Amino acid sequence: MKIKFYGSSHGLPERDRFCTSVLIEAGGNHYMVDTGAPIADMLIRDGLRPDVLRAIFITHLHGDHTCGMLSYLNLASWYYTASDPEIFTPSIYLEEAVNAWLKVEFREPRTFRFREITEGEIFSDGVIRVRAIMTRHHNDTTPGHIRHSYGFAIEEVATGKKVLFTGDLKPGMSDMPAVVFDEHFDTVVLEGAHTPLHKCMGVLKKCKTDRFIVGHVFPQVVTEDSIKAVKGELDIPLTVAFDMAEYII
Ligand SMILES: [Zn+2]
Ligand SMILES: [Zn+2]
Repeated sequence: MKIKFYGSSHGLPERDRFCTSVLIEAGGNHYMVDTGAPIADMLIRDGLRPDVLRAIFITHLHGDHTCGMLSYLNLASWYYTASDPEIFTPSIYLEEAVNAWLKVEFREPRTFRFREITEGEIFSDGVIRVRAIMTRHHNDTTPGHIRHSYGFAIEEVATGKKVLFTGDLKPGMSDMPAVVFDEHFDTVVLEGAHTPLHKCMGVLKKCKTDRFIVGHVFPQVVTEDSIKAVKGELDIPLTVAFDMAEYII
């Protein structure tokens, strides 16, 4: 399995980073976690057709994880019509919003396959298996405004290799998906915006993983000093992702 960062930034784009999006390639199939980057453009720049995506998994409905989806679905409506990914969203509001947007251009907008996420296994196609674990980053239980946030545990079926995407977390990472304390993961993709990593060493040390990759990078939080402090204390390798960086899991 390979993961490739199309966007490695936090809530704001940076000079050299789009917002969060990660392409997953496994068994010749392609999937996306979050769509904060202009994913249609990025796929094309990467030599792929936009219709390669089988599924899109959205951790939560903040714009830095979703806004690249609109141009993708617009293009899929009239040109890349073979694009038909299953779209996993923490709230079905996303489908309503997309449909409202598509109506601006199309009299009869195309419908896409949105799926509302619930905790547990949400996807399995024989190539990858995806479990959703609820976090507390984006939490609103007000009727009419219900929102949730999730991390994703993604396993390549053929190899058994596993990667955990934490998604955005509460300051202090107190809502780190607990599955990583019980099960071994080959890689954990951490978010680097809401807590300086050297301030959550207790959580990081409990994680059963061979490697950390930091995405969702907020430069004022993922500082050289912070990374140095973490590396000094942690036995597990840690790298900071940049756009178009790819990693074999
Ligand atoms: Zn974010
Ligand atoms: Zn967020």
